[in-house]
Amino acid sequence: MPQLLTPPPRAPIKLADFDPRYVEGDLDKDAAEQQLRENTAALAELAYRLYAENRRAVLLVLQGLDTSGKDGTIRAVTTGVNPQSFQITSFKQPTVEELDHDFLWRIHRATPNRGHIGVFNRSHYEDVLVVRVHRLVPDDQWQARYKLINDFERLLVASGVRIVKCFLHISKKEQRERLEARLADPTKRWKFSRKDLDERKRWDDYQRAYEDALSRCNTEHAPWHIVPSDRKWYRNLVVSTLLRRALEEMNPQFPPEEPGLDEIIVE
Ligand code: AMP
Ligand code: MG
Repeated sequence: MPQLLTPPPRAPIKLADFDPRYVEGDLDKDAAEQQLRENTAALAELAYRLYAENRRAVLLVLQGLDTSGKDGTIRAVTTGVNPQSFQITSFKQPTVEELDHDFLWRIHRATPNRGHIGVFNRSHYEDVLVVRVHRLVPDDQWQARYKLINDFERLLVASGVRIVKCFLHISKKEQRERLEARLADPTKRWKFSRKDLDERKRWDDYQRAYEDALSRCNTEHAPWHIVPSDRKWYRNLVVSTLLRRALEEMNPQFPPEEPGLDEIIVE
């Protein structure tokens, strides 16, 4: 049975129902990489038109546990497209200045300019995930945030921003292998953080926090996609396909020409 990629709005989501190793049909790595290249070519064209139109924007939100492949996905979907089209932001632990404002302040500042594709590597969802799991604010504060997030995303959509939210779903076993791989490879060790091991111990808490965020913020205006991510090639293909489809639906147009351009002679 094909696995649902985009659950219906507000339906309660149980991550155990979603297989992180899922692949559609008999797709293999070679075919997926070929399709990814086709997506890239289409995206390059669509991004050019989005930029020329200069009226709307796209926001790709990537969330997932450590090692789920947020960086790798960004590399895969942006390679081959004009870098000027992208505005990429990685959200780390908030700075003192950021903590001195509401939780959406730093997020709103990073939303894409018209004509661009914004990419969030982590996002405002951290404020109902890590913040909840580590009890960084009182319960009533993070609980109020689901509605605030839905309202904020509605504001963006009403302002011409198309939102594509992807949860990169990996298994606990796959995370162990990826953490081991980071330790084994001297060129990957910089990515390893002891903190990731502490986070791994809270795996079940994170699954629960993700289930609530995915269920409560899965709206008509900004739906969540649950991307099977144990296989990197499938993950990359799915996210690039979602981005391509969003842009195809938007169908950006070149702005109307100035009248009389045909008569112009450049001397
Ligand atoms: P990395 O993605 O490996 O660069 O790590 C970034 C770290 O920043 C992760 O541990 C996140 O959980 C953390 N982080 C991001 N946003 C927030 C936030 N709003 N509050 C607390 N920690 C955050
Ligand atoms: Mg990390």
